[in-house]
Amino acid sequence: GYHKAVQENRSLYNMVQDLKGNIRVYCRIRPAFKHEEENVIDFIGQDGCLVVVDPRKPEKDGKKMFQFNRIFSPTATQDEVFRDTQPLVRSVMDGYNVCIFAYGQTGSGKTHTMSGSAKELGISYLALNDLFEMSDKRKDVTKYEIQVQLVEIYNEQVRDLLAEDSGATKYPFHIVYFGFLTINTLEIRSCVSDNNLALPDATLCPVKSTVDIINLMKLGEQNRAVGSTAVNIQSSRSHSVLSVHVQGEDVSGSILRSCLHLVDLAGSERIDKSEVTGDGLREAQHINKSLSCLVDVMTALAQKNSHIPYRNSKLTLLLQNSLGGNAKTLMFAHVGPEGDSFGETMSTLKFAQRVSTVELGAARANKESSEVLELKAQIESLKKALGNKE
Ligand code: ADP
Ligand code: MG
Repeated sequence: GYHKAVQENRSLYNMVQDLKGNIRVYCRIRPAFKHEEENVIDFIGQDGCLVVVDPRKPEKDGKKMFQFNRIFSPTATQDEVFRDTQPLVRSVMDGYNVCIFAYGQTGSGKTHTMSGSAKELGISYLALNDLFEMSDKRKDVTKYEIQVQLVEIYNEQVRDLLAEDSGATKYPFHIVYFGFLTINTLEIRSCVSDNNLALPDATLCPVKSTVDIINLMKLGEQNRAVGSTAVNIQSSRSHSVLSVHVQGEDVSGSILRSCLHLVDLAGSERIDKSEVTGDGLREAQHINKSLSCLVDVMTALAQKNSHIPYRNSKLTLLLQNSLGGNAKTLMFAHVGPEGDSFGETMSTLKFAQRVSTVELGAARANKESSEVLELKAQIESLKKALGNKE
């Protein structure tokens, strides 16, 4: 009886999720720093809409409206943000591939959302913690195994951030090596079947507790620093991808595999090419390539195009299995109040709006199609059914 209820709950839950669509866009607004208190962009939340006011022309033309699945004000806490992310994270336990990525210009709060600080842990930690808890709760029904990989994509090269020679003895958990420690750029396997990893050569670490994750992230930070002379520049120009591989085996012996990618993207700001020469230029172009490919892929998915250009960059190739199809994608669009970056802020919001399946303004007509109304009614009854059981 209990097991059956769990199963039913799970599938009802996924049906609700499916009805909501597979691409979600949340917008998060960073609080103003002290030195930013003048010349700030005003963000006004109204009925789930975001109105942005250009500090240069706060009257007429300066106001633009956007609408997203969720808008987090500057006072939103990490826990609040995670609460709205948790359902997506949990669907990984049911075999869905999920990708959560943070987009926005440097300084807008991407790393704060994804990693946070020791005091205010971000989504990566909270998500893994939740997966550990869920796997413990379900242990009588399904045995879960959770493993992670952490890589950095910089200049269209994929670097293993968990490679460490004395790792197995230094850390209180077992580290499996599949590659060489000196690998600089990892191969991405493009046609990934269920039991293959997209990055077969990146270090794969079994994890069981938050402490394991904290240790791995520390190692990742060290490796990131070692490989770079100008760490700050590199970290704003590289993408970091934490891939969580979940494998579950239920009592009947059937196996389910899925992956959760947690991505802290490079800054989305345009780099003034006239100021960059030589190596720097190559870097700028590559960064534009990986980010603009992700923009292309997300746009194509939102428009339901038949061809999705995954193969055009390392980043989209790596994320292929968790963007589109049955996979669930959550994009955090980050913006800050700094008046000088109004242009960049608008371009972030415009892209986010394009990806968002929430339709803006007039498109949100009062008379909804009977299909939508029917789906809404179904969602309501499923919600009720869920509420009664959990
Ligand atoms: P990014 O990764 O996009 O470059 P960061 O996450 O490093 O930006 O954020 C820049 C600074 O702003 C950091 O000092 C960070 O702690 C702070 N910050 C960002 N978002 C928030 C927030 N929601 N609340 C409090 N501080 C924040
Ligand atoms: Mg950052």
